[in-house]
Amino acid sequence: MRSKFGGLARLFAICSVLYLVNAGKRGIQQRLADASGDAPDPSSGSSAAPSRGGIRGRVADPKPDPDPDPDGPEPGAVAAPRKLPDGPLNTYLRDQWTKGILKTRQVQEIAMKSGQQGANRMETFTQIGNSGKNPKIFFRAMKSILGWPSGTTALKFIEIPTTKGTLTPHPVLWPHEFFSELYAHRRPDFDKKIRGPATAALQFWRQMRGSSFVDNHPDLPELLWDRIIPIGLHGDGGQFTKQDSIYVLTWNSLTQNFGPTMDTRIIFTVIRSAEMLPNTLDTLFEAMAWSLNVCLKGLTPSADWQNRPLTGGGRQLAGGYRGACCQIRGDWEFFCKAFHFPKWNEAVSMCPFCRATGRAGHYCFANVRPDAPWRGTIWTHETRMAYLTAAGLILPILLTAILGFRLECVHVDPLHTLELGTTSHVAGNVLWHIAIVKSAFGGTTIAEKLKP
Ligand SMILES: [Zn+2]
Repeated sequence: MRSKFGGLARLFAICSVLYLVNAGKRGIQQRLADASGDAPDPSSGSSAAPSRGGIRGRVADPKPDPDPDPDGPEPGAVAAPRKLPDGPLNTYLRDQWTKGILKTRQVQEIAMKSGQQGANRMETFTQIGNSGKNPKIFFRAMKSILGWPSGTTALKFIEIPTTKGTLTPHPVLWPHEFFSELYAHRRPDFDKKIRGPATAALQFWRQMRGSSFVDNHPDLPELLWDRIIPIGLHGDGGQFTKQDSIYVLTWNSLTQNFGPTMDTRIIFTVIRSAEMLPNTLDTLFEAMAWSLNVCLKGLTPSADWQNRPLTGGGRQLAGGYRGACCQIRGDWEFFCKAFHFPKWNEAVSMCPFCRATGRAGHYCFANVRPDAPWRGTIWTHETRMAYLTAAGLILPILLTAILGFRLECVHVDPLHTLELGTTSHVAGNVLWHIAIVKSAFGGTTIAEKLKP
């Protein structure tokens, strides 16, 4: 079990590093050079307190450990990393490990064997995990050598119900801590990847003026619109092994400059489908909602996600910036799990947005005429919630726990819902029109116009 958590923690670490590599548009070597020579700022105050006793110990014991970890700090802990000696092989091993290509064990073994063959300055890697005798601390040892990039968030473990137990420690990256750390230590990245162009947030909310989201939101003062970052959530499942899939929950700013997924989406957590119980996702959502509500307030929290008191609450999170969650995107399978939406092939209630049914008759979904009766039955957030309550059905956590979040915030991901057979023709025609009819890429003959 330990090694699985190590693997997951490492995935987070790699994502975290890659995010910043992309965010800064700099090479991974430069990033790591910064990380290894750049002790995190102790004034940030949001670092994880190093504690001992494995993952359960870390979760159960939030108190700072007076006796420092002999093998180095947790990610984000306020301690300078050891200095990695220069040398092409050391650099290579470090980069291969950071990219997830080499495991810590392989780095240690390569360092040891090359040392035996005469290479020098390999001791740092050779000595990992008590010179290879204690694989259990490999990952921590490696983190301690390479340090943790400043401006990144420490992994936190929360207890959630899974197939392994009702209180299984599970790693998350709190959105409000990411928000805060990036602002405090990497302002240019915050401006680019969270804030976006200086007036983007103001423009966003002005365009949303009159929408049900803005009109009904309990904490979206117009005076602060220029400092409230609109946030979107994304949930998706993907094949992980032949037998299992993995769910990835991410968030992103809707006012940042557009870019590739790796560049813009920030992980909250990942979880294997095989480990999920019916209430696993809801528990993760509860935790995520708490953190998003902290972003909305723009102040450090005074209580944790389970309402246990925290010290250091009430300070500005990111210089007055806030985040308001106003969108969730995903495929239908994810939405059915997350919102308990009906499945499309359920005869009576097939749609969470209206009263269309799969049965022949008045509200039949197959009637797509402009006057189809189901068009008059489209739910608002309030009518849907009233219906669910009256029918004794589950109220989706995301619609009750995130302040201001509404049914209208649910966006079906076009990539998962457009019909491939039709859409591929539409996309082909559009490209033909741009390249051939409009000659957007130059050229006089068709062959020239099609040249990349
Ligand atoms: Zn509908």
